[in-house]
This record gives sequence, C-alpha cells and structure tokens, in this order.
Amino acid sequence: MGFQHPDISQFPEHSLVIGDSRASAGNGETFAHVYPATGKVTREFRGASAEDVDRAVAAAKAAQPAWRALPGDKRRDLMFRLAAIIEAEASAMSPLLTAENGSILIAGGHMSADAAQKFRYYGGWADKIDGRTVSTWGGPAHDYVAYEPFGTIGIIVPWNGPLFAATMVMAPALAVGNCIVLKAPELAPWSIMKLMEHVQAAGFPAGVVNLVTGGPEVGEAMVSHPGIDKIEFIGSGATARKILASAAETLKPVGLELGGKSAVLVFADANLQDAAKRGLSGAVSAHGQGCVNGTRLLVERSIYEPYIQMVTAMSAHVKIGDPFQMDTFMGPIISETSLNRIHGMVQKAASLGGRVLTGGERLGGDHAEGYYYPITVLADVEHGTELAQQEVFGPVLAITPFDSEEEAIALANGTDYGLGAYIHTTNLARAHRVANQMQAGQVQVNGSGEAMTPCVPFGGMKHSGHGRLGGIEGLREFQQVRNVWVNLNG
Ligand code: NAD
Repeated sequence: MGFQHPDISQFPEHSLVIGDSRASAGNGETFAHVYPATGKVTREFRGASAEDVDRAVAAAKAAQPAWRALPGDKRRDLMFRLAAIIEAEASAMSPLLTAENGSILIAGGHMSADAAQKFRYYGGWADKIDGRTVSTWGGPAHDYVAYEPFGTIGIIVPWNGPLFAATMVMAPALAVGNCIVLKAPELAPWSIMKLMEHVQAAGFPAGVVNLVTGGPEVGEAMVSHPGIDKIEFIGSGATARKILASAAETLKPVGLELGGKSAVLVFADANLQDAAKRGLSGAVSAHGQGCVNGTRLLVERSIYEPYIQMVTAMSAHVKIGDPFQMDTFMGPIISETSLNRIHGMVQKAASLGGRVLTGGERLGGDHAEGYYYPITVLADVEHGTELAQQEVFGPVLAITPFDSEEEAIALANGTDYGLGAYIHTTNLARAHRVANQMQAGQVQVNGSGEAMTPCVPFGGMKHSGHGRLGGIEGLREFQQVRNVWVNLNG
C-alpha cells in the first residue's frame, strides 16, 4: 500500500500566461510531472517554445513603460492586494506545494504566509523609491542619483521551493518598476501556476508578469533573449556556469543564488539540546533539499559524543511518510536519480571512514513506491572528503570534531561554498568574533531558519552566488543607477 496521490481536479490549468492570454500548453517539449511520494505522473505538460518565450518578452516589454510610470502607491496597492489573496487562498495553495515536490502539507501555510510577507515588505518600498543628491567636487553643480528599473527581468527558479524562490525575486523586481518573464520549473510547476492566477485576480496589468513553463531549453531561450535585461537565477552551480557563458553573448547581468554546504559550529558552551534540534533540522527541513540547510556539523571535541548521540536520538522521532498527512515531518526526495546520487555519496563517505549512526539505506515498505531516503547521520567525516565538501541535497548530516575556535573557523570556511553558517554558543564575544570571520552570506547565531525573512538580505559568497535578495539590498538588485550632473555656471 503506497501513499495518497494528489487529486489534480481543482489544480490550475494554465501553464502559459502571456499578456492577457493564457493557455494550458505551450508549443515546446512535452514533459510529465511526477509526484515523488508515489512515483506516479500528476499531469503531462507541453512546455514553452522559443517562440513562446519571444512572445512573453514582447508582452513584458510592451507593459513595462506604463508599469514604470505608475505611481509607487498604485504599485504598492496592487502588491498588497496580491499579498491578501495569497493569504486568503493558502489552503488551496498547500496541496499544490505538496503535489509538486513532495513537501509536507503542514509547511504549506507557512510558504503562503512567507510569499504574502514578501509582497507586503516590498509593496511597502514601492512608494518610497527615492534617489539622492551628491555633494560635488569641481562644481558649481547640482548632482543627483536616480534609481531606474532594468526593464524586463527573467526569473529561473529550482524545484525545491518554487513559490519561495519566485516571490523573493518578483516582489522587489515589481516594486521598482520591472516587468517579469517567469519560468515555472519542469519538476515542480504547480504553485507558480496558482500564483499566476492570484496575480491576475489582484488586477496587475496584462504583461507585467508572464509565465512560461518548462525545462532547460526554456531557460536557455530566456537567457539568450536580447529583450531580457537581467536574469535572476536560483539553482545549481553547474547550471549557473552555462547561464553565465550564454549571458556573455548579450552582455546580460545575472544574479545568482546557488547551492551551499553550510556549517553548523557547536561550541562546548552551547545550549546542547537546542543546538542538537537545530543541527538535525539541516536534514529535516525540506527533507535536506534546502540550499541553506546546515548539513556540516562541526562540534567541539569535549561534547562531540554526547552531541552526536543527541542528534541521532532526536532523529528517531521524526516521522517520514505521506506528505499529505498532518503528522508527517519529512517527505520524499525529488527523484530516483537524486536518491541514487545521495545514496552513492553516503556509501562513499562510509567507505572513507565515516561512521553511519543512523539511516544509510533507501526506505522500503509503504515508502517503496516513492523516493524515500531516511535521515542519515555520519560522524567522523574527514574535512577533505566529498561528503564534507559537496552539496548532497538530501537528508544527510556530516559531523566532524574540532579542538579550537581557530580550527572551527578554518573548517567552516574550508569549502568552495559560502551561503549559510550557524554558530551555537552562549559566549557573546565568541558569537560576534566567529560571525565576523565567516565566509558566508547569512550567519545565524543560536538560530536556524529565523533569518529567512524578506526584511534581511539573503545570498551567497564564493561559489554560492552573488547579489542579494531581501532587504534594501534586494531592491537594489533590480535597479540601475543613473547619475545626473547639472552645471550651475551655465
Ligand atoms: P538546476 O540548476 O538543475 O535547475 C534550476 C532551474 O534552471 C530549473 O528551472 C531548470 O529548468 C533551469 N535550467 C537548467 N538548465 C538550464 C540552462 N542551461 N539555462 C537556463 N536554465 C536552465 O537546479 P535544481 O536541481 O532545480 O535546484 C537545486 C539547486 O538549487 C541546489 O544547488 C540548491 O542549493 C539551489 N538553490 C539555491 C537557492 C538559493 O537561494 N541560494 C534556493 C533554492 C535552491
């Protein structure tokens, strides 16, 4: 007996929204969306073609001058209306979020609340887009800086949190007067299709937000399109490299939000219970398929064994199963391919001396139809090995001991990535001292998910990307700077 399969009879129909026209199919490649908890297809889609992308760009370009000219308070009101609709429709959105990638139903309400928050936060900025004056040298002159939208932003997001990722870009981009061509990912298209219905219900003018659905070929058509003025890409480093190479042809700016191998530093003076719960969340949250999950646990040697026993014991209480059940805390991995990759990495780490404390084998029984991998905790993982260095994107924790603050910092910074870092200590001076040395875009002290809020900037250093979403920094990502110098002696 397997798990409940989604009933898509109430799901949105339209996977292509261009200007004021909407269609249930594009003119491109056909793909089947699979629900990972049952391994069965929910619906076959026909994705967008390059011509569909072309039409979407044309619609965005046609709408943009009026959208830019719309007074900020009007853009604000539309964004607030959208936020209210997202909140009111949260219960209809939740099953779509579960159906698209197997995320647990109980997380759905939070995802809608988060999306609404983003439109409220940036709607609040839309009527406060000011420039500044500059005290000039070499005058007499009056000099001022004006912030301008780019024009059309192409948004490409991954499958692991499409609503989360799309709205973190849409909200600031729209607030400052850009129009949008948004690609719903082939592995998880449902929530963005629903969001497009809400955009329409809120009364956004046609062409301000356009939707194309499909895989890499649709993204490629967007990146190479001369009419798209900036690409915001959220996904893997491997794809980012291809996008940067392609964007070079049109000299297009690209914002990158990529993967991570975020360290959790647990010092002996930490609140161990809390640090263990939060450490475990790196495997539980989004079933370990979150870019900023803390998946590398660095633990001071004097508390190493008690800490790893605590994490392992807690993991036994996490129910993994049918995502539609309200008592389920963990669902499936996105695909068979991902599951096999994860298992391969675990086996390799074990062969290199990693001590498997729990998990390590694909789940059978009721879980067998879907792509289920248990929480897998490995202790004594050598810092230089693949499991300590590479993103797993699954519920796998790699634990390594350290002997000093200096060593902890060196280990935390010792990967190519630089997305998140989590510090657990009750020593205030140490917290700031260590935070100050983290090569990571988002550092949390005695926290885990709290900083994922629209009012603070989020993004990576090193191979985790560049540019920031969230906060005033997120607004600036979608603005260009024009400086105006007026001679006063003319
Ligand atoms: P991916 O790079 O395979 O795909 C991401 C998107 O890019 C998809 O929509 C895909 O269709 C599209 N795409 C693929 N090839 C393309 C090409 N050549 N040109 C244009 N578009 C193309 O990533 P994924 O497997 O969907 O997502 C997982 C990755 O995303 C992980 O590395 C994760 O850490 C990262 N991620 C980062 C953040 C962040 O904010 N930093 C958030 C979520 C996920």
